[in-house]
Amino acid sequence: MGDRWHVEVDRSVCIGSGMCVNHAPGAFRLDSARQSHPDEPDVDANEKVLAAAEGCPVEAITLALADSGEVVFPPED
Ligand code: SF4
Repeated sequence: MGDRWHVEVDRSVCIGSGMCVNHAPGAFRLDSARQSHPDEPDVDANEKVLAAAEGCPVEAITLALADSGEVVFPPED
């Protein structure tokens, strides 16, 4: 695979469920206001981060290819 993903969390919609932290420990952390932050802005493409994005109840997590910016998740309709 070898792709790098740029990870963003839209904190205007994050409800602090913590599910992303459960899915991908080390990739996300909650701040004292229970808002999620990516631990690193760019990560190697991996199943755990994808599962975190898919599992977010409010679709606050966006993944894009780090080089081109092409959106990986959420999928376009
Ligand atoms: S799973 Fe979504 S709503 Fe829950 S803490 Fe992570 S980004 Fe926020």
